[in-house]
Amino acid sequence: MEKYETHTHDVIVIGAGGAGLRAAIEASAQGASVGLVCKSLLGKAHTVMAEGGVAAALANVDPQDNWKVHFHDTMHGGKMLNNWRMAQLHAQEAPDRVRELEHWGALFDRTKDGKIMQRAFGGHTWKRLAHVGDRTGLEMIRTLQDKGIHSGMDVYMECTITHLLKDGERISGAFGYWRESGRFVLFKTKAVILATGGVGKSYKVTSNSWEYTGDGQALAYDAGADLIDMEFIQFHPTGMVWPPSVKGILVTEAVRGEGGTLTNRNGERFMEKYDPQRMELSTRDVVARSIYTEVMEGRGSPHGGAFLDISHRGAEYVKKKLPSMYHQFMEFAQIDITKEPMEVFPTTHYMMGGVRVDADTAGSTVPGLFAAGEAAAGLHGANRLGGNSLSDLLVFGMRAGLGAAQYANELRDNTLKIDDVHLEKAAQEMLQPFENAEGENPYTVHQALQEVMGSYVGVFRTKEKLQDGIEEIQVLKDRASQLRIEGSRMYNPGWHLCKDLKSMLIVSEAIAKCALQREESRGAHSRVDFPKYNDEKWGKVNSVISKDNGTMKISTSPLPQMPEELRQIVEGGHK
Ligand code: FAD
Repeated sequence: MEKYETHTHDVIVIGAGGAGLRAAIEASAQGASVGLVCKSLLGKAHTVMAEGGVAAALANVDPQDNWKVHFHDTMHGGKMLNNWRMAQLHAQEAPDRVRELEHWGALFDRTKDGKIMQRAFGGHTWKRLAHVGDRTGLEMIRTLQDKGIHSGMDVYMECTITHLLKDGERISGAFGYWRESGRFVLFKTKAVILATGGVGKSYKVTSNSWEYTGDGQALAYDAGADLIDMEFIQFHPTGMVWPPSVKGILVTEAVRGEGGTLTNRNGERFMEKYDPQRMELSTRDVVARSIYTEVMEGRGSPHGGAFLDISHRGAEYVKKKLPSMYHQFMEFAQIDITKEPMEVFPTTHYMMGGVRVDADTAGSTVPGLFAAGEAAAGLHGANRLGGNSLSDLLVFGMRAGLGAAQYANELRDNTLKIDDVHLEKAAQEMLQPFENAEGENPYTVHQALQEVMGSYVGVFRTKEKLQDGIEEIQVLKDRASQLRIEGSRMYNPGWHLCKDLKSMLIVSEAIAKCALQREESRGAHSRVDFPKYNDEKWGKVNSVISKDNGTMKISTSPLPQMPEELRQIVEGGHK
């Protein structure tokens, strides 16, 4: 008899958003037995919240578009810190992945001649985002879910994975608990795919939901995998600012893609100063800094933001193209965006950094551990272009599923062992907060962490602030080692937060340390004390985080050399 409820699969996929579902579909198609685990309900992931669209050079609206231009735009958007091979595969394969979704039943908006409609987005040379109004993620998840549940995989919902288990250097299992009952569960497996999304809940003002606590990045780090480029966290330029209860909720870039304009309290279209060519459709890092600067210099809107106006497009058009935005502002702020402007300010949105992976197989530096979607790093470099996440999770979700299934298949003998000592340690760590006679409330520590990250590791950074931030995080780590929880394991969100907090502290420390190390400004990372690019030193390296004897080690590694033909594309010869 096993001590804990146990399931055995060739491949365990952790996370059932777009990346996890696409990976699970592919691994099943390769004949692997697949278990798909998610900490909320199937279909309730960030992917479902995605609004503006999925970027793919289909060339339906702008026939000049092709993969080379998409590759060029992605590399420039990422300020050349991207993994070139990932950017190449992404640009080449995204159109097929989108068409495949259509074959599986996704209904995109249409051009007059019946092709998939595409819209403009910041940093994309051509109209490239396939979309369904401003509810693209919903249609994608609906389609992937339908396809997935008919692919023969087992789905484990409302189940949080807390630890990865290894046999020697190889992955051999995953351990977690059912959120409802609090009972432990063990998955024996040859391969794990991390598709757990981002880290936004380390910050107070964020577009992310409760699920984004950096679990995948923390699980990978604890298992010995490298994390890279953790300093690059995207502050989306347009989050809601008012009323306070909805602060941070996303206002999709599609508003600007459909012609929305940004102005300050003096009625000036301030993007003229910061990027006169691309204006509101400049890249997100530039627009976020511009809004931030306008507000800090006293030209903000009444609630401390900028005005974003789409009313000139007319009520019918706005309601058709941006139905969710219309309802969001009507219901939450009693503002009719077909008649009056919105107020917006940057919000923590997306993690460019994450698990270091091989571009072709999505394999991490630990055998048997794979990662895809927002949990993985490399494709977006120092700044992600809008729409490139949905295509990322399709392209690399598929590749991770393939890579993991092939790995599991090659590992024919299933003699991988679960280390009982490690397993018991994992269970004990989870139970500790119930046993502490005295200790802190996890909500208090979480709130303090969010304050620290917002104040010291926000949009604009300095050496002093980052050093203070790292010290504060150390203090919070000590406090978090003594958390106390009352009640039982059933339906106990405070207990769930204890483990989530551990993940958030790991990713927060990694973000702050990488931000301190990189003495330049590039993409989403803005150092007031080093306001320029330093191509000689920092333009050639990724930041690397790894675990060394229980402590967090930071280093750099050189970017892979780009082949000459791709260099020519990046330097502009493709247009
Ligand atoms: P997710 O879709 O978030 O899925 C993560 C999964 O992991 C969930 O199932 C969760 O339950 C599970 N999970 C997490 N931790 C654990 C654990 N410990 N154990 C078990 N399960 C776990 N991108 C675009 O390209 N275009 C857009 O228009 C766009 N709009 C966006 C709008 C909003 C409001 C937001 C928040 C994001 C938007 N993005 C957009 C970004 C994009 O949606 C996400 O980056 C992307 O969906 C991430 O997909 P994923 O599969 O990596 O993670």
